Amino acid sequence: MATSTPNQGSCSKEVTSSRIGLPALDISAAFPQATPASIFPPSASDYYQFDDLLSPEVKALQRKVREVMEKEVAPIIAPYWEKAEFPFHVIPKLATLSVAGGTIKGYGCPGLSITGSAIATAEIARVDASCSTFILAHSSLAMLTIALCGSEAQKQKYLPSLAQLHTVACWALTEPDYGSDASSLRTMATKVAGGWIIDGQKRWIANSTFADVLVVFARNTSTNQINGFIVKKDAPGLRTTKIENKIGMRIVQNCDILFKKVFVPDEDRLPGVNSFQDTNKVLAVSRVIVAWQPIGISMGVFDMCHRYLKERKQFGVPLAAFQINQEKLVRMLGMDFLEGKGDCLSWSRITWWQWNLD
Ligand SMILES: Cc1cc2nc3c(=O)[nH]c(=O)nc-3n(C[C@H](O)[C@H](O)[C@H](O)COP(=O)(O)OP(=O)(O)OC[C@H]3O[C@@H](n4cnc5c(N)ncnc54)[C@H](O)[C@@H]3O)c2cc1C
Repeated sequence: MATSTPNQGSCSKEVTSSRIGLPALDISAAFPQATPASIFPPSASDYYQFDDLLSPEVKALQRKVREVMEKEVAPIIAPYWEKAEFPFHVIPKLATLSVAGGTIKGYGCPGLSITGSAIATAEIARVDASCSTFILAHSSLAMLTIALCGSEAQKQKYLPSLAQLHTVACWALTEPDYGSDASSLRTMATKVAGGWIIDGQKRWIANSTFADVLVVFARNTSTNQINGFIVKKDAPGLRTTKIENKIGMRIVQNCDILFKKVFVPDEDRLPGVNSFQDTNKVLAVSRVIVAWQPIGISMGVFDMCHRYLKERKQFGVPLAAFQINQEKLVRMLGMDFLEGKGDCLSWSRITWWQWNLD
């Protein structure tokens, strides 16, 4: 077993502390053998040409989202990831994509097909997974719940500004004790004159440090069924606390939320959420979009590895010249794209077809 004298210990301490506080090296100067991720690599992952199956409209949307993400988001996003902060100035850039509201028709929403909405999400995730979670929670969870389960007045009041990303929404289902088992949730809604009183706790809720509106699920104390509510960010009794020290999705502002006798007026109860089955109607569509997130992330990882292997030279040749590295790229294409992207494309189309039948 290696031992160290007290002297050796203090020496290594000095060396370590002398490095702390130095500014980070400019990566292109420190390691010129590879292009940094802020200059995003070209897309190289569509080996099986699944993109050829997309309609011209979806392809045009894909190009638009890819361009904005590569040019506007990739160059600035890394420091936000390091600090676990949200880049608010990116919101207007994401708004130019006109993807918030996804499949919702009318109320200023884009009325995309599920495939269109999914491809846009994948392209956002390809460059930054956190940005795709921001838009997913806002659009495919909160906005979709208002569209599917809200009253006409609620849709007119909330959706247009959410579609423009002038306001931001979050979607609060998960609780500390009920994650996968969400239908057992214990946040309570009690009927009182003119509205409802909500008491309970939520966890992991994305966007909730800054969301203007919170779509919240709670158990009706009279019927014991799940109901849905729109809660405003300044509601008395509402407290959000950011979850710190995450190792992934660091830009996503996930919170613990405490509801202490939060009053919600009758007009903000979502009339279409009368049981967990109604929540499931939203999840049936949003889970398809969620499934495209890892596809998008894998696309980005593949593109990054592909470029690095071609740029980085060892033993006098690019790493890509070695068969063991080629085999790794092939494995990524097999596991993540052949099985994943093809399945997701079929699933998106079947869900869209079923949805339009209803
Ligand atoms: C980045 C991020 C953003 C999120 N955003 C939101 C949001 O906006 N709104 C919201 O409501 N929630 C959100 N969530 C919460 C998310 O939906 C939950 O994390 C998820 O439902 C799982 O719940 P849990 O974390 O409590 O895990 P648990 O339910 O405790 O599961 C732990 C592990 O056990 C496994 N497991 C659970 N049940 C079974 C079973 N029956 N059989 C086999 N294995 C099982 C799970 O797969 C998992 O690996 C977010 C989470 C993250 C990480």
